[in-house]
Amino acid sequence: PLALDRPSGDPPIGVLVVAGVESELLDVRTTLTTLAEQSALAVERFSLSQEINRQDSEAYFRTLVQNTSDVILILDAGERVRYASSSAVPVLGYPTLEGRRLTDLVPPEDSQTVVRMLADMRAHGWKDRREHWRVLRSDQTRIEVEVRCSDLREEPTVGGLVLTLRDVTERRQLERELTHRAFYDSLTGLANRVLFEDRTGHALTRGRREGSVVGVLFVDVDDFKVINDTLGHGVGDELLVAVSLRLSTTIRASDTAARIGGDEFAMLTGDSMSPRDVETFADHVIEAFREPFKLTSGMVNVSVSVGIATTEDSDDAAELFAHSDLALYSAKTAGKGQWRRYKPELQTNLIERHKLQESLDATNVETSFAVRYQPIVELPTSNLVGFEALVRWPHSTRGVVLPEQFIALAEESGQIVPLGAWVLGQATSDAAGWRREGARRAYEDDLPPAPLYVSVNVSARQFRDAGFVDMARRALESSGIGPETLVLELTESVLMSRGDNVLECMKELTDLGIRIAIDDFGTGYSSLSYLREFPIKILKIDKSFIDGLGVSNQQYALIEGIVNIAETLGIAVIAEGIENTMQRDLLASMGCPLGQGYLFAQPMNSTDAESLVHSSQRLGLL
Ligand code: C2E
Ligand code: MG
Ligand code: MG
Repeated sequence: PLALDRPSGDPPIGVLVVAGVESELLDVRTTLTTLAEQSALAVERFSLSQEINRQDSEAYFRTLVQNTSDVILILDAGERVRYASSSAVPVLGYPTLEGRRLTDLVPPEDSQTVVRMLADMRAHGWKDRREHWRVLRSDQTRIEVEVRCSDLREEPTVGGLVLTLRDVTERRQLERELTHRAFYDSLTGLANRVLFEDRTGHALTRGRREGSVVGVLFVDVDDFKVINDTLGHGVGDELLVAVSLRLSTTIRASDTAARIGGDEFAMLTGDSMSPRDVETFADHVIEAFREPFKLTSGMVNVSVSVGIATTEDSDDAAELFAHSDLALYSAKTAGKGQWRRYKPELQTNLIERHKLQESLDATNVETSFAVRYQPIVELPTSNLVGFEALVRWPHSTRGVVLPEQFIALAEESGQIVPLGAWVLGQATSDAAGWRREGARRAYEDDLPPAPLYVSVNVSARQFRDAGFVDMARRALESSGIGPETLVLELTESVLMSRGDNVLECMKELTDLGIRIAIDDFGTGYSSLSYLREFPIKILKIDKSFIDGLGVSNQQYALIEGIVNIAETLGIAVIAEGIENTMQRDLLASMGCPLGQGYLFAQPMNSTDAESLVHSSQRLGLL
């Protein structure tokens, strides 16, 4: 017998059966008795530990249910809550849930779905099904829950449908944010590059199916870097947001506007009939920037350059994007606030540009360039008052290369610094020559010498160079001309670019007696406040304004306004690019004092300039 040797004399819990040859078994009888006793103990211990385990795990699960933040609900046959774990109170906010209908716990619009699901669950006896619901808390806020549903009606201890609800509101929110971040730009809320590429892919597929034209616009904010550097990144960010809003107003619901990075945006338009429609869209985009931006720091005028690519040239997403980038580059080179459409030649232009850059890098500044001089005249009399020095690059194989083609390259490589210094040296020494000659002639003819001056263009990069003022001083010294003979032309972007230092530098130059002109006025920020803030003596109105003279009354009024303001501030105005007498006469009639343009003369070499100095003194120009 498997007997437990206890004083209480418990009945044996079983028997140990041993079979064998009787005589041999008798020999081991006592051993077998001991074995049976041991076995009885072992069996008892085993069942005991099973019981302990069972009790332990029950207690364990009870604790789990009570402490978990998961809400466990057991539903009765009428879909009412029969049991709710204690975690229901903090999660759902109701003091008690027992007796409530489950449908009362979900938003009204979801209750149908929930009813259907519960019916399915009863019909199919689901054991572990996962769902995603929205649940109404007692304070009517909505939370998102992950629901595990088990049909435990057959389970005697449960006898109902069991729902385990886990609050995943925060997690879902985070997931949504992460997804959003992966596809949207965090500053402007526009699509990012990833989403833009994806949308382009879809648009291309649709375009192929429907035979429509897909267009990509690459949009870049002109001179954004200047604004960012001068007014600070806060203003820069504010502007980017404003720009993105402005861009969004130009698109239809089916189009996409995206921020690609920095001040670069891209726009996708899907269902155009022809590339011409895409160009019209680009017109709208550029037009949208006519209005200034009202930022917390004040009003800012901003334009954008746009590169266009359409499926006419490629229907590969990456290629389309590369095309628009190339077109943007060409738009930028053409000036601000314009669009250019991709043309296969642009590809060759780019290669051409590289070659030009290489050639420029290899040139000797001292021996490879030439300076031409274009007369500046008094408008009412056509009398010569000075010359603007314009650099040329006579190239062995390309003929004469114009500054438009290489100044930007020289700025990029930094070569503009020695080149600019060379032009300044050349111009001042030529001016010294004309003055000597002019003085001699004037003396012979008993006339007062004409106060001729030379005007030299200075690029932003040169002006930023620390040694600029010294260089200008040396040019005056070595040529021997007086400072009143030298004018330096700066563009508005220089004024924008370095705040106090720019002002400092300009003051030093003015203290030397050198006059400063603002070139291409009207093409950049055209803030009239510059005229007051900076020591500017001359304002050159850009050719694009003069072109509109006689064409638009508005343009006339605008130029007249600039001329009047400049006059009250004691600033001389030069109208650039006068090509016909009508323009000249209109300008003269509104009181614009000075002019320059092909009507009077094309840029000429120093010898011709010198002859002109003589003739103009006696004959007057034209
Ligand atoms: P800018 O300073 O505005 O010079 C005027 C430009 O307009 C010159 O072109 C001149 O030839 C041109 N122009 C003058 N009158 C007329 C006209 O009636 N009709 C037309 N269509 N054009 C006219 P250019 O010489 O090609 O110079 C272009 C620009 O290159 C200049 O514009 C200036 O910003 C820059 N540049 C020229 N020389 C230098 C230089 O030595 N240093 C620097 N940093 N920039 C220079
Ligand atoms: Mg100029
Ligand atoms: Mg100009």
